[in-house]
Amino acid sequence: MTKTWPPQYDRSYLPSPNSKFWFKDLETMDPEERERKIILPKLQAQLNYAYKRSPLYRKKWDQAGVRPKDIRSLSDFEQIPFLTKEEIRQDQKETPPFGSNVCVSLKELARVQGTSGTTGKPTAFGISKGDMDRIAEAHARTMWGFGIRQQDIVFIGSFFSLYWGSWGALLGAERLGAVAFPFGAGVPGQTDRAIEWMKEVKPTIFYGTPSYSLYLAERAKERGIDPAKDFNFRILFFSGEPGAGVPSTKKRIEETYGGICIDAGSTAEMSPWMANCECGHRKGMHFWQDIVYSELVDPVTKRSVPYGKEGVTVYTHLERTSQPMIRFWAGDLSMWVNDPCPCGRTYPRLPKGIYGRADDMFIIRGENVYPSAIEDVIRGIEGFGDEYRIVITREKTMDEMIVQAEYVKGIDPERIPQLQKKLESELKARGLRSIVQMMEPDRLERTEFKAKRIIDKRGLYDEMIKQ
Ligand SMILES: [Zn+2]
Repeated sequence: MTKTWPPQYDRSYLPSPNSKFWFKDLETMDPEERERKIILPKLQAQLNYAYKRSPLYRKKWDQAGVRPKDIRSLSDFEQIPFLTKEEIRQDQKETPPFGSNVCVSLKELARVQGTSGTTGKPTAFGISKGDMDRIAEAHARTMWGFGIRQQDIVFIGSFFSLYWGSWGALLGAERLGAVAFPFGAGVPGQTDRAIEWMKEVKPTIFYGTPSYSLYLAERAKERGIDPAKDFNFRILFFSGEPGAGVPSTKKRIEETYGGICIDAGSTAEMSPWMANCECGHRKGMHFWQDIVYSELVDPVTKRSVPYGKEGVTVYTHLERTSQPMIRFWAGDLSMWVNDPCPCGRTYPRLPKGIYGRADDMFIIRGENVYPSAIEDVIRGIEGFGDEYRIVITREKTMDEMIVQAEYVKGIDPERIPQLQKKLESELKARGLRSIVQMMEPDRLERTEFKAKRIIDKRGLYDEMIKQ
């Protein structure tokens, strides 16, 4: 790494294969020293760059009366206003296609990626050539951190399309010098072919969504294949859904495949999105603070919360030349700690992962509910399968939550009502009043991507009232 900004990394560098760390000094440094010597200078350079090149930030910060030169410490940095998803959408509408924070010319761009746009207009990402290299470097570093080495075969079982996740995993695997196996997903019949290839090629690393890994295992078992014995996965790493950080889902994946389950990922906007990533000890994702500077803030007071407390995620790029995100309000709920991790890294950790994706949250009877809390309960009870769905309706004026959960095949039918009662009472113990509907195996739709867990029918009721 050089002292210039943006940093230039030596593309031929690799740590010794026995080293646990990619950059040992940086990863194990005293956190205050790292903030002063590494993070703050990178942050100041990123702010100067963005102010000079982006009309979006110049206008926004001028209005707030704050300039990059005012930021002399990380607490000063809290004066910089947040950037929301809505502002990005609006800015891209006014300055299509990449918005007024793109900061580079077309010839400097390497890639167009985007969000799927399932909820509203898609967001376009234009990523510069230099940023591609830095994303690859960052991902290789965190992948090294949880144990991928050059002899590993990295099976990427997710879409190769607009979706950044697959490409980010591929970039990291290639930079690390591992054997990349970009298999993809989503084509009819592809899951069955994946199973054949996994038996044949014996990839050692899996990447995809937690939902998809469980679906794939289920298909394999139907064909008499045991993923733990007949495949060869040592490590499975995930993003896109909270599952890999949900304790009972993590346990289920590890038991199913006989490999370790690693949680990773912030948001596509924040690529290198693997700057949130667990180490091999799986004590919760580390915030790799010298790659992306991450804050946890109180959603009401908007101030940073102390370690041990819950807050929502706010991210800032430290080495992006294209579309840098500065204090990006991702708004995902988590809790952070800074006690020592057995790996020796001194980054803060999220011991419960990101358990509430802002986009997945729903409000029922005035309470915020995250599907991952329900998932943890279902998958922690023996006798339930992997699939579940939450249907929210409104009876008169009261919200009603119906949890549809599949039981496993071959279960004694007499146990079904007991399971239903057990799930209802365990959800109730967590303050979630619900009606549980027991579903036969295979009744609910499977996914090769992110599972659709919530069906909100309250709008329908409101429509009926109006008529
Ligand atoms: Zn660790």
